[in-house]
Formats: sequence, structure tokens, C-alpha cells
Amino acid sequence: MPTPFPSRQAAPTSWSGVATTRSNTHNSEWRCTRCEKLLGVCRDGRMHLRFARGHEYLVGFPVQATCRGCGTLNNATAPMR
Ligand SMILES: [Zn+2]
Repeated sequence: MPTPFPSRQAAPTSWSGVATTRSNTHNSEWRCTRCEKLLGVCRDGRMHLRFARGHEYLVGFPVQATCRGCGTLNNATAPMR
């Protein structure tokens, strides 16, 4: 009988919950204007960006970021509500 993976409750952030919740989220998702890939999440007036290997950045506005999927340069000038 295979052993199931233990659920990781000690995640440093609630990002996984945000990513899996497409609607009814209090966090404003910042998505690529071209392919709608999730670029970051706006929270507390700042943009929370997450990259591969656990690199995370909390930046102020305005913020620019290149989409990992299609390479489009996106910019957000103010916090979204
Ligand atoms: Zn894109």
C-alpha cells in the first residue's frame, strides 16, 4: 500500500492557496495581459512576485515584470482592488 505524500501545512506563505483559488479571493491577481499567466498577487498595497526555486519579491508600485510564459513585459501602476 503506497504511502501518500504528507500534506505540507508549514508553507511559508499562502501562495498555493491563492494559486488554486481562481475566484472569490481577496488578493488581486496580476496576470499577463497576453497569456493570462499569473505574474504576482497584489496584497497590502504591494505586489508579491514569486519566481522559480522559491525566490519571492515584495515590491512597490509601479512594477514591471516579464511574463515567464510568453515574454511580454507587463506593468502595473497602482494596487488593484
Ligand atoms: Zn504571458
